[in-house]
Amino acid sequence: MKRVYLDHSATTPVHPRVALAAMNFMMNEYGNASSVHTQGQRAGQAVEHAREQVAGMIGANPREIIFTSGATEADNLALRGIAEMHRERGDHIITTAVEHHAILHACDALEKDGFRITRLAVDGEGRVDPDDVAEAIEPGTILISVMLANNEVGTLQPVEEIVEIAREHDVWVHTDAVQVAGQLPVDVDALGVDLASFSAHKMYGPKGVGCLYIRRGTRIRAQMFGGHHERWLRAGTENVPGIVGFGEACALADEELAYRRSHLTALRDHLIEGLEARIPDVMLNGHRTERLPGNVNVCIPGVEGEAMLLHLDMKGISASSGSACTSGSLEASHVLLAMGIKHEIAHGSLRLTLGRENTREEIDYLLEILPPIVENLRAMSAWKPGEDTTFSSGGGN
Ligand SMILES: *Cc1c(COP(=O)(O)O)cnc(C)c1O
Repeated sequence: MKRVYLDHSATTPVHPRVALAAMNFMMNEYGNASSVHTQGQRAGQAVEHAREQVAGMIGANPREIIFTSGATEADNLALRGIAEMHRERGDHIITTAVEHHAILHACDALEKDGFRITRLAVDGEGRVDPDDVAEAIEPGTILISVMLANNEVGTLQPVEEIVEIAREHDVWVHTDAVQVAGQLPVDVDALGVDLASFSAHKMYGPKGVGCLYIRRGTRIRAQMFGGHHERWLRAGTENVPGIVGFGEACALADEELAYRRSHLTALRDHLIEGLEARIPDVMLNGHRTERLPGNVNVCIPGVEGEAMLLHLDMKGISASSGSACTSGSLEASHVLLAMGIKHEIAHGSLRLTLGRENTREEIDYLLEILPPIVENLRAMSAWKPGEDTTFSSGGGN
């Protein structure tokens, strides 16, 4: 059975052009980028070429790109790197309740080390209010970290406005831009951020490679010690095939961006329209327009997200739910809960994230398969149409 892949926010297929470029640096050009001989030089030049491709995609200078093992490492390097370097200046960090766990758990760890963390609330659509950021800033604030787009509900955050506020107070701003890269243009100068994280495998590149953009003049403390790689900021032999693949994926994104944006937006809107027409009481999560072109996230009251996923999987569809299975017990998504959605409703979330290779026929297949699955699951649960249990009345939930 041909699979229909609708989980591009988890990871994407590697584009053939990317795989071929990476394979060449595994099989033929296998030199260590630090070696002085010709083979080493060729690997080193390939890394620098990839740095130019990555920088080119986001309007940065290649010297502002630090390659890492992915966005988790980039997020940790940004937060801890700023916190440890500038501890004398302050001990307060502002972030939001809907960040990726790479940010939230890094903040938890910093809190244990004595830093103070403010986790800003979001509105019903998952957006943080810039006024709340302004209010949270205090003399000890050193860093604000707000993602550019949410990986679960696709909501875009007003990062430009937050940067304007931060600049008045001389506070650094980091953004996790993972989900936006390859779907919408990212320009670090237009955004004005000081640091930004990216991951190759969310944009048709290989897993295990990403980067941190660090604006010229921004000083951070290294987290990995060893050789002089990456301007002393990230020791370890360069992942040359991964970095070359990442560079190629960025060049490809530049070439295809306009097409991807319109293709994904058209599929997304067709999918949302179809779900709303065919599934009673389905609710769209996140902002209707200020959202990623490839993101659809809905709650379907009366069904468990996990049950839906298993049934879809049997029909050849790979999708995701907002909930993460933690040690056998189901935990509702921290993002949906932060948006004020009730626990029992949040459990019925379904995330469908689209990619460049998806077709309208695949979306129509899902729209044909899903409604009867929902109907059957609802028949087994106590759900009744129109039951208004959508939003929690705040607190204590
Ligand atoms: C996937 C993802 C990450 C983690 O990236 P890795 O390269 O897999 O470590 C971080 N932030 C966001 C928003 C993501 O979607």
